Amino acid sequence: MNYQNAERPAILGGIPVRPKGPPTWPRSDPQVDFAIRKLLESGDWGRYHGPHVPELCRRLSEYQQIEHVLPCSSGTVAVELALRGLGVAAEDEVILAGYDFKANFQNILCLRATPVLVDLDPSTWQLDCSRLETAISTRTKAILVSHLHGGFVDMPKVRKIADERGIPVIEDVCQCPGARLYGRLAGNWGDVSILSFGGSKLLTAGRGGAVLTSRTDIAERIKRYVHRGNDAYPLSEAQAAIVRPQIDQLDELNECRRKSVQRLISRLADGVGLTVLQRPVENLLPAYYKVGFQYRGEDFHGMPRSLFVASLRAEGIAFDPGFRGLHLIHASRRFRAANELTQASRADAEMLTLHHPVLVDGNEAVDEVVDAIEKVRKWSKEIQSRCSTIENSGTEQTPVR
Ligand SMILES: *Cc1c(COP(=O)(O)O)cnc(C)c1O
Repeated sequence: MNYQNAERPAILGGIPVRPKGPPTWPRSDPQVDFAIRKLLESGDWGRYHGPHVPELCRRLSEYQQIEHVLPCSSGTVAVELALRGLGVAAEDEVILAGYDFKANFQNILCLRATPVLVDLDPSTWQLDCSRLETAISTRTKAILVSHLHGGFVDMPKVRKIADERGIPVIEDVCQCPGARLYGRLAGNWGDVSILSFGGSKLLTAGRGGAVLTSRTDIAERIKRYVHRGNDAYPLSEAQAAIVRPQIDQLDELNECRRKSVQRLISRLADGVGLTVLQRPVENLLPAYYKVGFQYRGEDFHGMPRSLFVASLRAEGIAFDPGFRGLHLIHASRRFRAANELTQASRADAEMLTLHHPVLVDGNEAVDEVVDAIEKVRKWSKEIQSRCSTIENSGTEQTPVR
């Protein structure tokens, strides 16, 4: 490779900024190795009921200071169980953001209730609390909020509105275990909260999840649904043993991720074409499963987001488009739009996310992210003229009817 090839973007045949690609996840962890070795030696991995699931629940309950921890098979199931725990049923409405995890919407449909979509706050691209009240109707059974891409919903406002109306809140903490707003942990703002231990998540066993609540009535209702002589949505002993040590490391790793994001933000400040959505907020200690940005194509000579993502991926940096706007992938008869979903549509088109493993891979890895963005920006005209086909092969999907 000559000098010019090293300079060229990888998508045009140059050498990637990170030839080994993005860091893998989960990363190797001596504590998890130890837990797995003990599982093998004890034979606990093969038991229906052993010490590990109860121990994980005890530890989570202690960490969150929430009485009831109900383990289950995924974050997606945890949302369904939370909805069931609140008695959501046919004809009810559940309010959520127009931009959210797709399964949250599907879970509401699954119970034959109607999702009511609220727009995002234009400055943070989290659920816009100032629009929450107009979404409430006599049929509203719950408000489902997700903290997404390193941001945090304005929970004091959500709580105030919900408490005035006596509407319970489900808090989806799948993307931010250990985050705190005004010192209060994510998961402790909702009447019922959910965690995921999915393979890409900050706490992971490949699969798994949990429902957290301090309300005994909710916990009892969920237990009645789940226990059918057998546990219908179990978390295994092995999964529990693997997640358990990760809770001890969560605060430290979150701090490391925050430092990396601060470094990233300060180096991106010179206008590299991405607007940082989650600027440090005084009372917020965020947790980063993804770092959300607003992609400004005009700063890349009009390069489409899909081509930007492909270019950065070629450099070994794990950028992705965000979620699809829920109103854009579902037939309008499936939901009620409480207000115009202008920002949700913008987030659908312009959200860019950086996956978290690079944030615990050292300063050099963080700087490589910036270098790769800078490289792609410099070459953005040439990349576009050479890659016109990639433009049309983004992640766009047609609506599900
Ligand atoms: C990952 C995720 C879930 C569900 O997690 P699974 O365990 O993969 O089912 C729910 N909500 C949000 C916001 C998520 O990111």
